[in-house]
Amino acid sequence: MQLRAIKDIFHKELFPQYPKGEIDSFFSLCIEHFLGLGQFTLVMQPGYTLTHEEETPLFQALSRLKTNEPIQYILGKAYFRDLILSVNEHTLIPRPETEELVQWVIDDVRHATVNDIKILDIGTGSGCIAIALAKELSNAQVFALDIAPGALELAQQNAQENKVKVNFMEADVFHMKWDMEFDIIVSNPPYVREMEKVQMHENVTSYEPGTALFVPDNDALRYYRAIAECAQKCLRPDGLLYLEINQYLSTETKTLFEAHLFQENRLKKDIFGNYRFLRCKKIAE
Ligand code: GLN
Repeated sequence: MQLRAIKDIFHKELFPQYPKGEIDSFFSLCIEHFLGLGQFTLVMQPGYTLTHEEETPLFQALSRLKTNEPIQYILGKAYFRDLILSVNEHTLIPRPETEELVQWVIDDVRHATVNDIKILDIGTGSGCIAIALAKELSNAQVFALDIAPGALELAQQNAQENKVKVNFMEADVFHMKWDMEFDIIVSNPPYVREMEKVQMHENVTSYEPGTALFVPDNDALRYYRAIAECAQKCLRPDGLLYLEINQYLSTETKTLFEAHLFQENRLKKDIFGNYRFLRCKKIAE
């Protein structure tokens, strides 16, 4: 079948489930991933004819897309800043907002005069935050923890594939027994409440790991309390904490850290205009 005919089938089968522009991008990603064909072939040789073996993975991808499975799981990879990361059902697909959280840390640390800055990423998942920081900050030593062995295995693989060194550890933020001290702690913990689930797309709720997204008992600040306690122990005085937060609870989250004696607490909006990030400084003793 010709490339253009298969593309038409993608459009016929996936519209209006997905907007046309998104279907174009799914198709391009699929031919690139499964067949190594670039945009050039698609534009200049739409009549390019595929063999039956070449068509098979494209039709398999199409039927998975129809069930709302995220394209990143189908391809087994996601783009985050300038990294290509492997993803699977054990990890959340990295979000564009999280790229901004990483940028905030980088903007601050780049100007630091200190060398050998120790950074801890809590709940690393695919490793996206830790790996991006390790890649871009040559003056930092990056540590990352997660409770899920499946996620850690993938994060380790991602660090290797992107040729960076991150010290991964299996640990639970509720039971941290560390005597190490960090200059920076960063985290994107689960923060979505059950009642916010209705606003989420089915490709998130049906496929992404619920444990990485949702909080039990509607207690959206559960992980932030644990992070605050952990930071009281293992963040150095004057050290900084960078968090991705629930946009509907920005004031409450900020208040929580004030109560835990953090200062200069600053909220920041994401590209969509929502209060999505919080930076706090641990007071010097
Ligand atoms: N921002 C993510 C979403 O809306 C949630 C990430 C998280 O819970 N940490 O899907």
